[in-house]
Order: sequence, then structure tokens, then C-alpha cells
Amino acid sequence: MSEESSKHIFVVTDIPGKHQGIIASEDISRGALVLAEAPLIIQPGHRTNKSIATALQSVSKEDQRAYLSLWSSKSKEDSDGVFKDIFDNNCFQLGEEPRGGIFLTGSRFNHSCSPNVHRHWHAPSGKLRFYAIFDIKAGDELCIAYFNIENVTSEERQARFRKHFGCDCQCDICTLPANELQKSDARREAKAELDSVILSSYAAPRRAMQAILRILAGLKLDRVEEGITDVHYLAFQVCVAAADAQSAKIWAQRFLDSRVLMCGSEYDTRECTKLSSFIEDPRSHQAWGWGTRANLLNLTQSWQDSDSE
Ligand SMILES: [Zn+2]
Repeated sequence: MSEESSKHIFVVTDIPGKHQGIIASEDISRGALVLAEAPLIIQPGHRTNKSIATALQSVSKEDQRAYLSLWSSKSKEDSDGVFKDIFDNNCFQLGEEPRGGIFLTGSRFNHSCSPNVHRHWHAPSGKLRFYAIFDIKAGDELCIAYFNIENVTSEERQARFRKHFGCDCQCDICTLPANELQKSDARREAKAELDSVILSSYAAPRRAMQAILRILAGLKLDRVEEGITDVHYLAFQVCVAAADAQSAKIWAQRFLDSRVLMCGSEYDTRECTKLSSFIEDPRSHQAWGWGTRANLLNLTQSWQDSDSE
């Protein structure tokens, strides 16, 4: 059995205008584990049609048929390179490694530029885990992001989508009216510039924190939960450099909470332990007090307020 849990909470079904997709069959709470699935086959970064065909010999006939039913840009009669084409179009990378795996159910998640599900390779169990990052209603489609969407404009996203799938992304964000799409693009461009804003703002921590709050508000509006995590961490770093322990603790806790939401409570014990030690004592961070000192608590708490609305 390559798959565990929760199958009853969704169905894999044909979706008009798309190949197949995954629909919630009941309400799913934010943070819930939707699916944990082991790979059918694993391949290194350098793979060939032959290496994939060999790997497929060790799986059942039923799974071989299921593999061949996955999306491909080549026709199934075109046997030349079809195994590799299917693999390249449907595989998920396993953590930081160049290895990729095929997940027969996980491959059915369609893409959205405002995904409601986040995937995370959990190395200790050898499974790809999918978590709900919003409350999801029965009947809603469950979508993941196939590629980075947080700081990329719709034009760049569409170019990437077209290159891979030969059509336009039809997600809720990409189909917004032109003026709203423009605002969404501006928010994502602002996120792309955040790193440089922060770097140049250690001398002006309040300005950095205000920029962070604007970006967070934009990500919330765009429902890009995945982008919020690393902004929490930047906010933590700004507070550490400004030697504001109370605010640093709050942001470290927010970062930890958002990582747990995306990746489950035992996502990475080493990172968890390190973060917990910073929540305990932000002064132990190597960048403690490096920048201009500032009290950022009011700004920090103003986000907490808007966050809990
Ligand atoms: Zn889209």
C-alpha cells in the first residue's frame, strides 16, 4: 500500500477543461493532513526513458497502466520517450535532492497560483505529505503550486505554464479582471523585492518592518499562504538585528506555526529545536543587535491584530 490516510476526504475525478483533479468530498480544516503517499518509482536527476522503463517493470500491471494514464505532452502511441515525458511532467522533487518520484494520487492535484494545499517531502517516512493550508469546503478543488508563484507576475507564470502544458493557467488569480490582476502582480513584485528592502533597511528597522507588514497584507489578499512563512522569518531577523527580544520571539513563533501548518508538527526536528531556542532566547542569534536598535513591538502586534480577524 503506497498511500495512507484520508482518501475518503477527497475524490479524484474528471474536471471540465482539465485532465483530472482532486475535489474535497467533505469540509477540510486548515492544517489537516490530506494525503501521505510513497512514490511508485524514484529516479535520479539524470534519468532516461530506459531507466524509467526498467523501474516500471517492478510495479504491478495496474500501476503500470496508472502510470501511463498520467498527463503527457506526447501521445501514448508515440513510444519514443513517452516514459520520460510522463515522468518529467508529473514527478515531484524529493526534498532538496535532485531525485524525483512519481506519486499516482499526488500527481492528480492541479496547479493554482493561490494553492490551498502544500506538499512536503517527509524523508523519515519516505512519503510526500499534502497539508490543507486553508479551510476547504466540500466540493472545492484541492490545488498545489507546481512552481514558485509567490514573487512571480502573472505574465511570467503564464509563460512557464504554457511551456509545460501548452495552455494558460486558469486558476482563480490568473482569471481575475485585468485591473485586479495588475494589483496582484504588483503585490508579487513587491514580495520579490523584499530581500533587498530588508538588507538595505537594517539601519532603519521600523521602515523594514512597515515594508514587511505591507507584503504580508498583500500575500493575505492574494491568498498565498506559502509565501508568508519566509516573510515571518525575515521579520524575526529584523527584530534580532534591532535587539528587540519581545518582537523577535513573536515572529519566531509565527514562523514556527506557519512551518508546522505547511509541513506538520515533526517536519524537521533540527530546525524546530533551533527555532525553539530562539523563541526562548533571541539573544543567542548570531545577528543579535547588529543593526540600529529599535522597539518594533507596536508594529509587530498590529499584524497579530489584523491576522486574527
Ligand atoms: Zn494561475
